[in-house]
Amino acid sequence: MYKNIIVPIALDHGPNTSTALEVALKLLAEGGQITALTVVEAIPPYVAQYLPEGQEKLTHDTVKAELTAELGGVADVMPVVVTGHAGRTIVDYAEEHGADCIVIASHRPGLQDYFLGSTAARVVRHAGCAVHVVR
Ligand code: ADP
Repeated sequence: MYKNIIVPIALDHGPNTSTALEVALKLLAEGGQITALTVVEAIPPYVAQYLPEGQEKLTHDTVKAELTAELGGVADVMPVVVTGHAGRTIVDYAEEHGADCIVIASHRPGLQDYFLGSTAARVVRHAGCAVHVVR
């Protein structure tokens, strides 16, 4: 049983999200917390300079709203959106916030079951805590 679980969520991976959340809820100790974490790739400065002012903030807020909708009102799951590189940022966030488990889908839906996606592979290799891979 874990007290501080991170569930990384890619907004375009559909049914994986609810499966990972269900598993996280089962692995959670009483009084523990679950964080649903979506990483948004940083917009390179040479592109950002051509965007209207406030566009990055707008993107961040839109993703936060999408993530919250994706959670479908599952109680006690905290939605968090951060900017960075998916694999690296998930591992860093988990370490900085004292997570004891990461529950992650092996890959986007539709690929063969033995396949480990690039984000999932990085998390499995580099995380300092337990990683539960959902297939
Ligand atoms: P693939 O390479 O097949 O796209 P990934 O390894 O990227 O597979 O995806 C597996 C899982 O990694 C996703 O279901 C999700 O849990 C997590 N993930 C991928 N990208 C992100 C992201 N930008 N933010 C949060 N989690 C992510």
